[in-house]
Amino acid sequence: MTLVSDQSRVNIAGLSRAELERAFVDRGVAAPEKARMRARQAWRWIHHYGAVDFAAMTDIAKETRQAMAEAFSIQRPQIAEAQESADGVIKWLIRFAPGVEAETVFIPDVARSGALCVSSQVGCTLNCPFCHTGTQGLVRNLSAAEIVAQVQTARDALGEWPTSLENRRLSNIVFMGMGEPLYNLDNVAAALDVISDNEGIAISRRRITVSTSGVVPQIRALGERTGAMLAVSLHAATDELRDRLVPINRRYPLAELMAAIRAYPGLSNARRVTFEYVMLKGVNDSPADAKALLRLIAGVPAKINLIPFNPWPGAPFECSSSAAIEAFAAILKRAGYASPIRKPRGQEILAACGQLRSESEKVRASVRRKAIAAA
Ligand code: SAH
Ligand code: SF4
Repeated sequence: MTLVSDQSRVNIAGLSRAELERAFVDRGVAAPEKARMRARQAWRWIHHYGAVDFAAMTDIAKETRQAMAEAFSIQRPQIAEAQESADGVIKWLIRFAPGVEAETVFIPDVARSGALCVSSQVGCTLNCPFCHTGTQGLVRNLSAAEIVAQVQTARDALGEWPTSLENRRLSNIVFMGMGEPLYNLDNVAAALDVISDNEGIAISRRRITVSTSGVVPQIRALGERTGAMLAVSLHAATDELRDRLVPINRRYPLAELMAAIRAYPGLSNARRVTFEYVMLKGVNDSPADAKALLRLIAGVPAKINLIPFNPWPGAPFECSSSAAIEAFAAILKRAGYASPIRKPRGQEILAACGQLRSESEKVRASVRRKAIAAA
C-alpha cells in the first residue's frame, strides 16, 4: 500500500500494525527494538481512542510524541457532503483525493444495532443495469486505508470513540456500497484486519459482511483471508435471466457460483450466506421465479434479503408491487427460509441500495495532475 503523505509526513491513520511498525523504523522515530511497542501504543490511540493528535498520546514520552508529530500525521479524508434522511440514515460523500469520491452510509436500527455500508471502489467495472453505481464506470480501487477511513469518519460523526463493546450504534459493517469488493480483495482484506482488531475498532469478523455480484474465483479466498460473512447478489435463478441482470454471470454462470458458495469456508447454519434479491416488476418477481430460486439454493444454509428496487433517475426498471413481494416472500418462508423484505432506507437522499453514485469520472492521471496544478 502506498503511504499517503502530507508534505513529508506519512499519514498513519489507516496503516496495518506491520506498516505502522515499519514507519516508525523507516522514519527513525523508534529504534528497531522499540518499534513494536511504540506501534502498539500508537495503534491504541488511533484505533481505540480515535486520536488525531499526537499530543493526546499521554503514555508516550514527550520527545517521542514530538518526533512522531514531525514524521507522521493522522488525517481523515475530506467530507465533501453529509446528508441525513428523515429515517435517520446518514450518507457521507467522502473525498479521498481530488476527483476521487465515494459514498458511505450509516443505517441505524439494523443488524445488532446499526450498520455502516462502505464502498470498496469508486464506481464499478461491472454494469448491472438496475444499479446506479454501475452507470458510473470504475474510477479506481480504494486503498485499505481509505476503506478504514470510512469507518473512522462514521465513528467520528457518531461520537463512538473510544471503542465500547456495549451500546454501540455502529455494530456491523457491510461491504455493500460502491464497487465490487472481490475485485479489490487485497485492500478489503487488509482493511478488515484493521477494523476487526480487538485493540482497536473491534468489530468482529462475524459482524462484517462482504457482498459480491459473483466473482467466483475469489470467493474461497475471501473466506480464507477474512473470515467475513458472505452475501451474494443473486437477483435471478436462471442463467438466461441472470446473464441480463448481473452480466458477470456470463463469465461465471450459476452452477459455478453455487458450487463456490457451497464450498465457502465456515458456511453453516450458524453462519449462513445471505442472498440478495432485488424485486423488479415483471422481471424476476413471479411465484415461478420464487420456486426456481428455491430449487437453485436447496441445501445451502441461507437467508434471503428481498430488496424492493430503489429507483434512480433514468433507471430502466420499476419496483415490484407490495403484493408481489409479499407473495414471493411467503413462498420462501414456507420453505423454511428467513426472507426479510428490506425496508427502503434513506431513499430521499439516494442512500439506499444501488442508488450510490458519485460524480467522479475516470480521468487520465496526467490530465488530473494538470488540473490540480492549474487549480
Ligand atoms: N458489487 C457488490 C456490492 C454492492 S452491494 C454486489 O453487487 O454485490 C449493493 C447491493 O444492492 C447489491 O445486492 C446490488 O445488487 C443491490 N442493488 C443495486 N442496485 C439496486 C437498486 N437500484 N435497488 C435495490 N438494490 C440494488
Ligand atoms: Fe457493481 Fe454491484 Fe452495482 Fe453490479 S450491483 S454494478 S457489481 S456495485
